[in-house]
Amino acid sequence: KKRNPGQTEFIQAVHEVAQDIFEFIEDKEEYHEAQILRRIAEPDRVISFRVCWEDDNHNIRVQRGWRVQNNNAIGPYKGGIRFHPSVTESVLKFLAFEQTFKNSLTGLPMGGGKGGANFNPKGKSDAEVMRFCQSFMTELYRHIGPDTDVPAGDIGVGAREIGYMFGQYKRITNRWEGVLTGKGQEYGGSQMRPEATGYGAVYFLENMLKHRGMDVAGHNAVISGSGNVATHAAEKITQLGGKVLTLSDSGGFIHDPAGIDQEKINWVKHHKTHTRGRIKDYVDEFPGAEFHEGERPWGVPCDLALPCATQNELNEQEARTLVDNGCKAVSEGANMPTTLEGVKVFHDAKLMYGPGKAANAGGVAVSGLEMSQNSERISWNHERLGEMLTELMEGIHGKCVEYGDKGDGYVDYVKGANIAGFKKVADAMLAFGVV
Ligand code: NDP
Repeated sequence: KKRNPGQTEFIQAVHEVAQDIFEFIEDKEEYHEAQILRRIAEPDRVISFRVCWEDDNHNIRVQRGWRVQNNNAIGPYKGGIRFHPSVTESVLKFLAFEQTFKNSLTGLPMGGGKGGANFNPKGKSDAEVMRFCQSFMTELYRHIGPDTDVPAGDIGVGAREIGYMFGQYKRITNRWEGVLTGKGQEYGGSQMRPEATGYGAVYFLENMLKHRGMDVAGHNAVISGSGNVATHAAEKITQLGGKVLTLSDSGGFIHDPAGIDQEKINWVKHHKTHTRGRIKDYVDEFPGAEFHEGERPWGVPCDLALPCATQNELNEQEARTLVDNGCKAVSEGANMPTTLEGVKVFHDAKLMYGPGKAANAGGVAVSGLEMSQNSERISWNHERLGEMLTELMEGIHGKCVEYGDKGDGYVDYVKGANIAGFKKVADAMLAFGVV
């Protein structure tokens, strides 16, 4: 806390990991002596820069951008860019720290990073978003590269923003290279990348359920968010025979007791991405659904819960409500959506709980595959990538079980993910000596 005053999200993330790691390294002198955890918890560097742009009314606007390069022991820094008014250095440091463990868990050679700006794309014209993205990249380009740091999308950064940033990078450097992932498929993007995080979170859920002899079919799911991750998680739940009851955004949540089927999901995708509309409009389109303004969906009784919006969107009380209503499993599409107190409630109730760093790793895993395809100048098809994603999620689940099985049949997936993710990075750092 003394080293990082006021950085509550970052301290929360380090605290959660440190508990498990201390237990794991208790009898492993080499990690202590090398101060490995302390070194991972100090980013390699935090780059902060001014982003200056002109809005449609010719006002000059000044915003702050960051890139946090946390750790590149096992591969180039890799992690998304977030554009949201809630972005602070603390939020990006927490995300870059978590990303280091997540990327390690995928088994692919990727280090951890994260970036973004306190820019709100909502209500901005396409031209304004383009000017912002170009200005952001005009500084960022000197810090990244296909073997240095490969950013991707995150909240507020989708295909449109990646396109504008990639175009600017190419214009400045005169190089076409795989410097960003989540690109459009016509210019080097990977098939399956848009679906990968949401589908992956459901595959992780499926693996947790299978481990206890259950499956998704016939179960009700409550999902938060209505962006990339939430809509694809909803799609996969539906494909596997589950029923999705809710979606949300920062204005509130919709509850559709009839179930949010593929046709409705397609409408939401189009409405949020192309019309840039709000989830509350769903109830005008699909009678029978209700909109709950300013509320979160965790009070709707369900078997499965998938928080897919943002950090700290599920607190202790809401976790208790889920448990009391008979929820069996939680798989996090978002990063750190459950508070530390909420996680404790899940563990005490022995609920199957898949933390974001494991459950949502499918996105970055397919980003890793996008990097491989770009380097090789090839593209794999949807089917092949789908199989790879399924295998990767099964592998991540297996590692969590290996390090997180409590011995009584209950798996602490947080502990499993923390230890498995830590070990690979730590061993690489030991090999490098004191650097
Ligand atoms: P999108 O921008 O596509 O969607 C974000 C969704 O979350 C929107 O519905 C948004 O609502 C909602 N949301 C954002 N902030 C808040 C808030 N403070 N309160 C309530 N709702 C909020 O982002 P993604 O779907 O890509 O990302 C969602 C989560 O998944 C994030 O935690 C992200 O870090 C994580 N993630 C994403 C990956 C990816 O591949 N995209 C990979 C791994 C993790 P509104 O429109 O009102 O802002």
